[in-house]
Amino acid sequence: MLGTALHSAADCGEVTRVPLYDETQVRAILLDIEGTTTPIDFVTKTLFPYASRKLEAFLRENAADAEICGLIQELRAQHDADERNGLQPPRWRDDSEEERLRSSATYGQWLITGDSKCTPLKALQGKIWQRGYARGELRGEVYPDVPVAFERWNRQGKAVCIYSSGSVLAQQLLFGTVATGDLTPHIVAFFDTQVGAKTEVRSYRKIAVAVSYELREFLFLTDAAKEVEAARAAGMQALLCQRGAPSKAAEGTGPVIRNFNGIFPA
Ligand SMILES: [Mg+2]
Repeated sequence: MLGTALHSAADCGEVTRVPLYDETQVRAILLDIEGTTTPIDFVTKTLFPYASRKLEAFLRENAADAEICGLIQELRAQHDADERNGLQPPRWRDDSEEERLRSSATYGQWLITGDSKCTPLKALQGKIWQRGYARGELRGEVYPDVPVAFERWNRQGKAVCIYSSGSVLAQQLLFGTVATGDLTPHIVAFFDTQVGAKTEVRSYRKIAVAVSYELREFLFLTDAAKEVEAARAAGMQALLCQRGAPSKAAEGTGPVIRNFNGIFPA
């Protein structure tokens, strides 16, 4: 049986039933976070400003920690790469430990402003958010249909997996602190950019290997058309999820879902 949904043809308003995905194949549901399980506003208006505000103090307090030192070195390397690529990041000074700390914070804030996905920044943000969640200053947010869908899919024996450019730690904190309770017991695997970029075909192949399912047994849901294309090119089934008003980004990617209610309904 094919998963179907009522889909209105834009040109004449005619309503037709179109296949969305091959339901019989699906054993795992792979989900993007930003714009798919969670409002983008939560990330851009809550998480990013929080990390930006706390970054310098965090680096200062943890400057002696070997892991944090390593992340600062990785930031430095990224900074050099940005300069080589003509991106004009804020100047980095290594003259003293104080200059180095301030430079890493200023550069990190510059990266946050540009929504950088670079791995050391994501790791630092994850650690800062961890403290924020632990202190109750931050709380995860998901759309109302998400906890219901996780329970339903679990009942049906589907493995729920997450793939987001936010670090695995940040993902676990988000899903662990939503208003309805801890959603992490419903999730079998978390993937971040350590597995590769979300627009790269091979990232999806690696995820399939890690979860030990065939590529075609995955249904990937995301709000980014390029990610839909990459997942499909890898051999996964994939659908674009648009929570807000229809946009041009959806053109050419096939059927679009507005929430999770129609995906393996009860
Ligand atoms: Mg997204």
